[in-house]
Amino acid sequence: MSDHPGAAEQERVAAQWQTEDQGPDRRFLAFSVLVLVSAVTAAALVSWWLPSPATPRVVVTGLLLALGFLLAEQLAINIDVRSGVSWSISFCEIPLVIGLFVAPFEVVLAAHLLAGVGTLLVRRVQDRILYNAGAMVFEITSAFAVAKWVNDALAGIGPAWAGVLAGALVAPLSSTLLALVCVRVLGRTMRLNAAVRLVLRTLVLGLVNASMGVVGYQVVVHAEAGWPLLVLALAGLSALYLAYSGLLREQRDLEALSEISLIVARSGHQAAAKPSLGRTEPNDLAEIADSDEWQTIADRIKDQLGAARVVLRLRFEPQLPLHTVVSGDDLPPDVRDVEATGSRADALLRLPGSHVRHFRRGDATPDIRHALLRRAADEVLIVPLRSASHLLGVVEAHDKLSRWRGFGQADHRLIGTMASHLATAMDNRRLLATLRHDAYHDPLTNLLNRPGFRRAAGEPLRKHPDSVVLRIDLDVLSTVSDALGYAWSDRMVVAAGRRLRDALGPDVALARLEGGQFAALLVDATTDEAHLIAERLRAELAAPYPVDRLTVEANSVVGYSTPRSGDGDQPESDVDALLQRADVALRAARSSGDTVKAYLPTMGQIFLRRFQLVTQFRHALETGQVKVHYQPKVALPSRQVLGVEALVRWRHPEFGRLDPDEFVPAVEAAGLVDALTGFVMDQALIRVRKWMDRGLRIAAAVNLSVRSLDDPNFPQRVAAALDRHGVPPELLTLELTESGVMADPQRALPVLRALHTLGVVLAVDDFGTGYSSLAYLRQLPVDEVKIDKSFVLGMGTDLGDLAVVRSIVELGHSLGLTVVAEGVEDDAARDQLAGMGCDVAQGYLISRPLSESRLEAWLQARTTQARGLRDEMVLTLLA
Ligand code: C2E
Ligand code: CA
Ligand code: CA
Repeated sequence: MSDHPGAAEQERVAAQWQTEDQGPDRRFLAFSVLVLVSAVTAAALVSWWLPSPATPRVVVTGLLLALGFLLAEQLAINIDVRSGVSWSISFCEIPLVIGLFVAPFEVVLAAHLLAGVGTLLVRRVQDRILYNAGAMVFEITSAFAVAKWVNDALAGIGPAWAGVLAGALVAPLSSTLLALVCVRVLGRTMRLNAAVRLVLRTLVLGLVNASMGVVGYQVVVHAEAGWPLLVLALAGLSALYLAYSGLLREQRDLEALSEISLIVARSGHQAAAKPSLGRTEPNDLAEIADSDEWQTIADRIKDQLGAARVVLRLRFEPQLPLHTVVSGDDLPPDVRDVEATGSRADALLRLPGSHVRHFRRGDATPDIRHALLRRAADEVLIVPLRSASHLLGVVEAHDKLSRWRGFGQADHRLIGTMASHLATAMDNRRLLATLRHDAYHDPLTNLLNRPGFRRAAGEPLRKHPDSVVLRIDLDVLSTVSDALGYAWSDRMVVAAGRRLRDALGPDVALARLEGGQFAALLVDATTDEAHLIAERLRAELAAPYPVDRLTVEANSVVGYSTPRSGDGDQPESDVDALLQRADVALRAARSSGDTVKAYLPTMGQIFLRRFQLVTQFRHALETGQVKVHYQPKVALPSRQVLGVEALVRWRHPEFGRLDPDEFVPAVEAAGLVDALTGFVMDQALIRVRKWMDRGLRIAAAVNLSVRSLDDPNFPQRVAAALDRHGVPPELLTLELTESGVMADPQRALPVLRALHTLGVVLAVDDFGTGYSSLAYLRQLPVDEVKIDKSFVLGMGTDLGDLAVVRSIVELGHSLGLTVVAEGVEDDAARDQLAGMGCDVAQGYLISRPLSESRLEAWLQARTTQARGLRDEMVLTLLA
């Protein structure tokens, strides 16, 4: 008897001998021969020992029995008991029982061998034939020997069927024991527990089948109309078997399917918890491939199909190679990493289609047979994994773990449904990975975005307080996008991102935050190392970028911070806080003209203060914290007070007196400079108006911000202010710094012209600090140059400064400009300037900037009033 309780497990043992010992395994062959020889010897002995009753029609009986064995094998039912454990129930004990009753030993043996070996040959399981033939001989021999022995022992006492029953029971037991011996001989291990269970199961199902056979025979022989009765009973019983096993199998298959879908879904969640570093390649998908869930899935499919081996070949991304997972018997390396396309492609994998295909070595075309041979498989079930759009991979199942049967209809259905579940789950998984990738990556550079950086840097920063967060800002970007459009600036960003990635290597978390701003995390780095790396990154970014037939060079600035760079005792591990600090350092670097700067806690306070100033400025204007002071300007050498410069002052309730050099740039940067200029101009014009009312012609100078020159409505507002206060335009001077005007003279020109047309006096402030030539100034409608105070202050000790002052005075005059010197602190300077012919002096020598009331007092005390040429009142500084 071949298929009997526990056969599947036993078969698995047999299959392992066959497949793991690829090719002519001598040990298995020797063992098979030994089994066969000893079985045949035993059979000969038994044949000699047993009486040979002269049976009529031996050949017919033999053929009928062979047919019975064949039928019994074909009708075998698989009952799946537990994951991967199935009982193969055949009815081979029934023909055996009949044989034991009616036929001589040799006939039954021949019939069984005929049916068994024939089937094996048809199914091309050649390499197991010797062993299996031996096992069959053992089964029949032991059955007859035991039957005879029991009948002899019970002679006269027991019924005749007792021996038959015992014999039919011993047959499956003997082959099971033989299999266990085989396991031992081949040095494989099987737990005692499992072996005992196997034997017990063999006995139970053997008993059921054998007793059924005996009962059937008795009924046929002794009962009235026994045949139909037996057929009826058998039909009912098999129907029950079939229904029950079908039900069990369906349930098991469903469980397996949902389990597989669940594993795939769960693996997605686990991968989602693992942050990636924002490499350029879609590494979230690579992570899926790494996951060992696929092994579990392959194992599950293998168990469910009862296959010797299951191979999953998965393609997670079109550009990635096939990822192969094998469950069960090893797969030779050359078929493991086989290619699905191209000249080296495997015949099985090249097959088109979307449904399950079944190939057997026996009836395959030569190239398919070759593919099967490479896998050392007799038969293969193969099904592609297809999503809506593309091929995700292939599932292969090799060799059913059963001595007789190959894969059946139910297996086709199961592997097909599994494949479609798997494909759907993979598709969902891919979708999830894509969504996650998109959520955490910058689509332009494929680097991390801000949330991605937060996620990737969070844990490393907590674990490694000696890490550094870098912020890298590319400079020229806005210029490029203004001049050439966003496409080009985008290309520059992509190129810059690639350079940074190449310089930092694949394992550093790198993000593009926005525009030309990048961030990187250096884990376990000292600040010295970070500084060196930052310089290297700057050098990489500085190489020219080919942009639309021109090459653009980009400057960059780096600021960095570390968890320990705060002023608290605890290291700061919050990614946003560290990014913010690195940004503070970056801005500090930029304003001090540095290229790389580390964050210092004091920087944070400075920026915090600037932030406060900006937010409080409007309120300060409205509540009178902001005032205007005035510094007189006097003519040289006449000492006539020509005007005053209006200089803003802020007495802050918390910070005290604030320097305009501190808050004016902040107010400008915040876009609030219009409010400032408007306020100062109004105050200055009120003052001028008051002097006019007293018959005094004193001009006021107001400092402008470059930003005012961007505003085409600015001249209108100036005109409106002059109108409002009833001040003639020539009593208002507008001061613009040299660097401000010269940064983009073409842009400033229209507004300058409009102001000039109004009749206001235009002065270039801080002259000499920029790089413009006076000749260039001629093209601008300006009336006055103010020599920067640094030259005037240095004039007494530095011949260079003196030369600068002298040439500005001379050239200014040659261009018809009024020349003003500011920063006049002593008599010597004033006298020198007067000697050179400088027109106007302003400085501490004459007066510090004064509040309104103190200015009035100063005018009272320090000047004399006289009637001027045009009948106006003129103030002259006392000597
Ligand atoms: P500035 O326009 O060059 O103003 C002259 C600065 O030199 C003033 O500083 C003044 O107090 C200082 N100063 C005057 N005489 C002497 C001297 O003999 N020796 C020395 N060492 N310094 C002297 P202040 O008031 O601190 O203003 C600084 C800057 O703030 C100004 O430079 C100007 O650029 C800006 N500013 C002041 N008020 C305003 C304003 O209302 N609007 C705008 N946009 N900027 C302003
Ligand atoms: Ca000024
Ligand atoms: Ca100045």
